[in-house]
Amino acid sequence: MPRQTIYLDHNASAPLLPEARAAHIAALDLTGNPSSVHAQGRALRAVVDQARTEVAKLAGAERDQVVFTGSATEAISQAIIGGARAFRADAIVVSEGEHTAVLKAAEATGLPLKRVGLDADGLIKVEEIASAIADADRVGMRLLVAVHLVNNETGVIQPVDRIETLVGPSPHFLFVDAVQAFGKMVLEFASRPPDLMAISSHKIGGGTGAAALLMKGHADQVRLIPGGGQESGRRGGTENAPAIAGFGAATVAFPDRFYRADVGTLVRAAEDGMRSMCPDLVIFGESTDRIGNVSNFAVPGVRNSLAMMGLDLAGVSVSSGSACSSGKVGTSHVLAAMGVRNDLSECALRISFGWSSTMADVEAYLKAFGEVVGRHKARRVAA
Ligand code: PLP
Repeated sequence: MPRQTIYLDHNASAPLLPEARAAHIAALDLTGNPSSVHAQGRALRAVVDQARTEVAKLAGAERDQVVFTGSATEAISQAIIGGARAFRADAIVVSEGEHTAVLKAAEATGLPLKRVGLDADGLIKVEEIASAIADADRVGMRLLVAVHLVNNETGVIQPVDRIETLVGPSPHFLFVDAVQAFGKMVLEFASRPPDLMAISSHKIGGGTGAAALLMKGHADQVRLIPGGGQESGRRGGTENAPAIAGFGAATVAFPDRFYRADVGTLVRAAEDGMRSMCPDLVIFGESTDRIGNVSNFAVPGVRNSLAMMGLDLAGVSVSSGSACSSGKVGTSHVLAAMGVRNDLSECALRISFGWSSTMADVEAYLKAFGEVVGRHKARRVAA
């Protein structure tokens, strides 16, 4: 086994924060069920309640707007499948750049699906949403619009404020997948127009097993899992109190640690270093606003499957940005929507930094990157 020392895949899952680990383990040692009225149950209820307050604070939400789920995928499914039902939506509007969790949930509703495109920078074509709304308004149709705030592959920050302006005052509904934005951008859920928003614990170092759907009061009937009335009847199933405790603790510890890691400087150093070695480097989304912690790029002619293998052997973990659950490298539907040719998309790699990242990681990464690309070029010259 290689000694993995450099972890540059925070967008897939961030390393567990020590604060989250401690909270998780402390809750594991409690006995009972947060819904029980006895002392043990009340102790677990207090853990869940505290985490709800903490998560709400970082999301700019009210406590009672936070519904804990088992994953972001579940929160998204509740928003879209449950939302389509509760809002009696006639059609769903998504962008081509959504995570598959959104695209598959939208397909699962069985409703007509309008997919709006991305431009060459990776930005959602807001004018296509405007025309979908105008078309729907003409025939009295009600839409559920589902868009992401930050793209998980490119880091591109979407013009959600413009989409809010379109959907907010209308009879239509807006769901925002804020999984890659939460903790890294100010969200202010309570005071902004989205009806529903999904956030997740493990992307900020809280560990897997907990996420949340943020729901405005009028969206209270958006349900997916019936059951024993947990989460004020909005999500059945005994709450995963240890995972939720980790989530809450991460929301307290993450922002300061993330800020101190200065990921924007790390990404810039990595991009500058790569470009000095490979002047033909293509950085996707480079000319628009991106979240500071991620870079998605390609060295033309250097296939990502080979580069990832070489980096992995050197102890550096990166992603193609489009790894499917089978672990295979696929071509990215996001880059395809941006009009990136397949032969370039097959060379796309994503590095994503986070709370534990340092400049030493960047230096070690650049050394390994230089060797991998150098080997590839030498092979091409020899061939
Ligand atoms: N939405 C976005 C933007 C994501 O990046 C992810 C995970 O990568 C998800 C949804 C799904 O999260 P999970 O697989 O943790 O349920």
